[in-house]
Amino acid sequence: MARTVILGAGIAGHTAALHLRRMLPKAHDVVVVSPNSKWNWIPSNIWVGIGRMTPEQVTFPLAPIYRRKGIEFHQALATELHGDGSAELPRPHVTVRYTDPARQGQEARLEYDYLVNATGPKLNFGATPGLGPDGHSWSVCTAGHATDAARAFAQVVGRLEAGDHQTLLIGMGHGTCTCQGAAFEYTFNAEHELTKAGVRDRAEVIYITNEVQLGDFGMDSMNFGTKRGIVPSHVFAESLFQERGVKAIMGAHVERVEPGVVHYELLDGTKGQQPFDFAMLLPPFRGADLKAFDREGADITSEVFAPSGFMKVDADYTPKPYEEWRASDWPRTYRSLRYDNVWAAGIAFAPPHPMSRPRTTPNGTAIAPAPPRTGMPSGVIGRAVAQTIAERVRHGAAGKVHTASMAEMGAACIASAGAGWLDGKAAAMTVFPIVPDPEKYGDAGRDTKETFGEIGLSAHWMKAMLHYLFLYKAKARPLWFLIPE
Ligand SMILES: Cc1cc2nc3c(=O)[nH]c(=O)nc-3n(C[C@H](O)[C@H](O)[C@H](O)COP(=O)(O)OP(=O)(O)OC[C@H]3O[C@@H](n4cnc5c(N)ncnc54)[C@H](O)[C@@H]3O)c2cc1C
Repeated sequence: MARTVILGAGIAGHTAALHLRRMLPKAHDVVVVSPNSKWNWIPSNIWVGIGRMTPEQVTFPLAPIYRRKGIEFHQALATELHGDGSAELPRPHVTVRYTDPARQGQEARLEYDYLVNATGPKLNFGATPGLGPDGHSWSVCTAGHATDAARAFAQVVGRLEAGDHQTLLIGMGHGTCTCQGAAFEYTFNAEHELTKAGVRDRAEVIYITNEVQLGDFGMDSMNFGTKRGIVPSHVFAESLFQERGVKAIMGAHVERVEPGVVHYELLDGTKGQQPFDFAMLLPPFRGADLKAFDREGADITSEVFAPSGFMKVDADYTPKPYEEWRASDWPRTYRSLRYDNVWAAGIAFAPPHPMSRPRTTPNGTAIAPAPPRTGMPSGVIGRAVAQTIAERVRHGAAGKVHTASMAEMGAACIASAGAGWLDGKAAAMTVFPIVPDPEKYGDAGRDTKETFGEIGLSAHWMKAMLHYLFLYKAKARPLWFLIPE
């Protein structure tokens, strides 16, 4: 009997757990550890954040699903990894601290044969003084954050209706942020709502970003293949900003957020301030900050995890200049560098380097968008890791190792630009591969036949359909596994 423990019940962890449970006989344990009682379809938090959806529409309790499927669930936070065992417990185990009301604060050691770290991002609001819901800006990273943001957004609309002028500042709260797509979506959804409410003329909508140009998305931009030739993603994005009258502050590092004003530094080293009445600024991400120990109890965190807190896997982490980065540096199996029976899936793995060129201001401030790891690759990696573990359980070391390199896979992403069955809009983008590979695809970096973008109402319908489809899949309803990641 084998026991697999999965840390995290987000897109990567939940996908891995459901697939592994489906692939292995019930004699083998599948265990999930996650601090939240609910699953959250994070992409739809954007719509919660403008008041178009309720938090209940984007979340559901995990325990009943896991009970039905025969998955052991611990509502807890993993804190320590003891991959070689410890003096007290010789088998590999993780230390967890319960967050469910019945066992709040209690600690336990969970033994495993195989471990998947799918702990996603830690929302690092602390990197920028004053950033986040405990400071002076809002967030849509969790359903709870988005609910609070929606309340503040409704107040802005109320003030506009009363005849006041309002400035909305939306974007990235630090020079090393990722997830520009989410900030882009919130910008245009907010703008769309203001237009619908008939108050757009009194509102200024400003996007602030660490991207060097619009449409970079932390992916070193994209070159879309079209019938008329190649259209770079900045042209695609700029036309939307122009059409909707949204101003942009680009190449910016937010230094601090004070009540009603953001202080930022630009790539040329100049400093600026932007007053606001409402700010939704995303935080930079780091790993879950798990600690790792060897059998003797020595702290080996720096061997197992990168300084960013993400887990080191089968990537090439050799520091090298931007010009020498290779697509082949990116991991394929996601197995830990230190342990043969531990994998990191989704955002939890340490990327070897960014995709966009990192830059520094003359004052030495890093303005370097971190590489995005969106839902589709997170799910695909989660499934590949589950397949590898199922093979190992069945065939031991001879089991097939499944791979899912982001340099060899494509991804589809639909960025909402406004909700509405008749007047909604979204940008549907497909890239192949996710990590640019100039050696294979030349200056375009990607296959321009497989990399394209379209903007329109039908993309909004598709985005809305994906919301229902992925909730159906995550609830493990009949034939859920036929829905691709
Ligand atoms: C606002 C927003 C909008 C987005 N929109 C899109 C979109 O439109 N399309 C798209 O493709 N992607 C989108 N993304 C990105 C997408 O949400 C991520 O790619 C995806 O959630 C990553 O999956 P993950 O499993 O790695 O992390 P998550 O889904 O964040 O899951 C991490 C899990 O680990 C748990 N956890 C954390 N710490 C611990 C710990 N110590 N122990 C145990 N468990 C722990 C968490 O509670 C959570 O359950 C968006 C992201 C944001 C923030």
